[in-house]
Amino acid sequence: MVNGRIPRETVRVAEGIGIIGAGVAGLHLGLYLQLHGVPATIYSDKTPGQLAAGRMLNTVAHHNTTVTREQALGVDHWDLREYGYFCHHHYIGGPEPGAAPLRFPGDFEAPSRGIDYRVYLPRLIDDYTGRGGDFRVRGVGPGDLAQLARDHELIVVAAGKSGLASLFPPLAGRTPYEKPPRRLCGGLYRGIAYSEPKRVTMSIAPGHGELLEIPMFSKDGFVTALLFENVPGGDTEVLADAKYDEDPKAFEDLVLAKLRAHHPAVSERVDPASFGLTGPDDLIQGAILPTIRENYIRLADGRYAIALGDAHNVVDPVIGQGANSASYSAWELGAAIIEDPDFDERFCRKAAARRADRVNAIFDWTNLMIGLPPAPHLLELLGAMSASRQIADEFTNNFNYPERQWDILATPERTRSFLGRHGLG
Ligand SMILES: Cc1cc2nc3c(=O)[nH]c(=O)nc-3n(C[C@H](O)[C@H](O)[C@H](O)COP(=O)(O)OP(=O)(O)OC[C@H]3O[C@@H](n4cnc5c(N)ncnc54)[C@H](O)[C@@H]3O)c2cc1C
Repeated sequence: MVNGRIPRETVRVAEGIGIIGAGVAGLHLGLYLQLHGVPATIYSDKTPGQLAAGRMLNTVAHHNTTVTREQALGVDHWDLREYGYFCHHHYIGGPEPGAAPLRFPGDFEAPSRGIDYRVYLPRLIDDYTGRGGDFRVRGVGPGDLAQLARDHELIVVAAGKSGLASLFPPLAGRTPYEKPPRRLCGGLYRGIAYSEPKRVTMSIAPGHGELLEIPMFSKDGFVTALLFENVPGGDTEVLADAKYDEDPKAFEDLVLAKLRAHHPAVSERVDPASFGLTGPDDLIQGAILPTIRENYIRLADGRYAIALGDAHNVVDPVIGQGANSASYSAWELGAAIIEDPDFDERFCRKAAARRADRVNAIFDWTNLMIGLPPAPHLLELLGAMSASRQIADEFTNNFNYPERQWDILATPERTRSFLGRHGLG
């Protein structure tokens, strides 16, 4: 104090929204707030260059509802006619060796798109900073939050599934799994011909797991993402442990062998002579324990932190919903911020309620899809899809509207009612 006055430089005026993390959640929120003239600061532990040059983060596809948000945010840089894909192809292997598989398509009403996040995220950071956005390279630790809470009116933790996410307690009893239900092996490959029109293949090998084949644009141009979702103890689990770096050829031979054994709808388009991983960093192996956490916590001085994206809820990628959910939640949180500038507990509750139905639907639908043994009503629906193009199209398009999918699948009665409306059952 000088003459009863607080020196000017010690007065800190909390300003705007502090967003921790520059993944799809943090960036879509930052861009949304920027568009609406709300001051925001994004803190990222990585520079755009580090993100671009790093190891592959995931094999994300954005569905059209997310692309529509990208258009509204002015970050739709990849023309859907060239970069999009238009349908799903389903392959369901017979439960017994030799049993006839099911093969059937399902169309989207509007295309989806797969862009390697090492291309996507740096481009969106450029958009944000190019428009004057405040982007700071700084890893935020739990001990920094008290200060950030003094600097900002609201903190958003969009830092992904590790580290700061643990500040938000997991909701007890919300996940049906104690251990990750799948062990993952995702990679980018050359030497797989695209189908015409471009599509994602969802191939199910009963008892062993699923394979998602996704047309993807990476720094190497158009490539193919193969995401093996391996059941622990199944025949393809070895892919989650195989070491590419120790023997690249042996790794690629193993992938080819498992493709041929379990996923013929993909292996039939492989050219063995040119097949291979596009690079040693283009591989991700691991496992995800589905988790939903508390929506918000109270920080020092009565300020609040809200969890967003994977920091709030993590799902297995088998139906490709985590990033789409993060984008949706960012949009809803942004809209809540525009509507109500009082960032107190009531605000946090309202923001949580806005996203709850979709986030919960994604969580429950995803967990149903990987449940073993498969739920009979899910098998009933898959069977109906193989017989009815209309049902297969509706299921496919509902990747854009997970809560509609959950309306169909939440209980056996709902599935029966849905099939009844389609003249089945
Ligand atoms: C193999 C695989 C395939 C997938 N496929 C799909 C798909 O097809 N469709 C789909 O919708 N989802 C998919 N997902 C899920 C999707 O990747 C995630 O849900 C999504 O990327 C989460 O985004 P986020 O912004 O919440 O978190 P993140 O992407 O994890 O971003 C968090 C960011 O915060 C930064 N950060 C972390 N800690 C700090 C800190 N302390 N301080 C500052 N910065 C920090 C990190 O560097 C990172 O850039 C897939 C996931 C995997 C693993």
